Amino acid sequence: MSITSHMAHFGSALLDFVYPPHCPTCQAWQAPDDRLPLCRACTQSLQTTSPHRCPRCSAPIDALAVKGKSCPNCDHWQKILFTEALVLTDFVGVAADAIHHLKFAGCKQIGSFLGHQMGANPDLAQKLGGLDLLVPVPLHAARQRERGFNQAEEIAKGVGDVLGIPLDTGCVRRILPTRQQARLHVTERAANMAGAFIAPRAPRGTPSSIGLMDDVLTTGATMSACAAALRTKSSARIIALAVASPFRQVGDTLR
Ligand SMILES: [Zn+2]
Ligand SMILES: [Zn+2]
Repeated sequence: MSITSHMAHFGSALLDFVYPPHCPTCQAWQAPDDRLPLCRACTQSLQTTSPHRCPRCSAPIDALAVKGKSCPNCDHWQKILFTEALVLTDFVGVAADAIHHLKFAGCKQIGSFLGHQMGANPDLAQKLGGLDLLVPVPLHAARQRERGFNQAEEIAKGVGDVLGIPLDTGCVRRILPTRQQARLHVTERAANMAGAFIAPRAPRGTPSSIGLMDDVLTTGATMSACAAALRTKSSARIIALAVASPFRQVGDTLR
């Protein structure tokens, strides 16, 4: 084997490592020149969402909930610590699979890719463009060590990259190793998150608007607890941002 073919072989092995040849969410094979963290069809599906969204929490909701102006997702929000929540898509299919790969299979590059998709969405870009700062919801130090990165920070990097918004990763800290929210009922989620975050210092650059970034927005318990900590050091308008939110129907028992 010549040196050049060795190098070509090494190059393609490296590419396979960075971007696997099969799309992680649909398993479609991707040609080497065409490789992205997700294939084109899956990427495209991230830009589609339910026709009805709650104007307050952005959750995909059924038409009945829109009519009654009552959202089963955010009706229980006691204190609005953030003025608005903006979400790219529904937490199903490709988005749910991609987030699962990001968090539990170590596919770190999917994080900034999802952030890029948020920044590239015209509706979101318009609303996010005016933000002064992005603050990713932090993980507890032990969880971050175990995962090797914070998925919310990776997503925020992607959004910040596209829209030119700086990141601050040191103004909130998670001090309690909370239980997995996914297994808890809505009332347990808020109790589980109480006192989970502190703000060791004010956000950088005295921002007047902050985008608080997480991967999934479910009941808003994590975002509320994190926003409450931020509030102790900043009077900025806080908008909750997430890649996806689960679909809600009237009468849903929230989990
Ligand atoms: Zn795919
Ligand atoms: Zn809502």
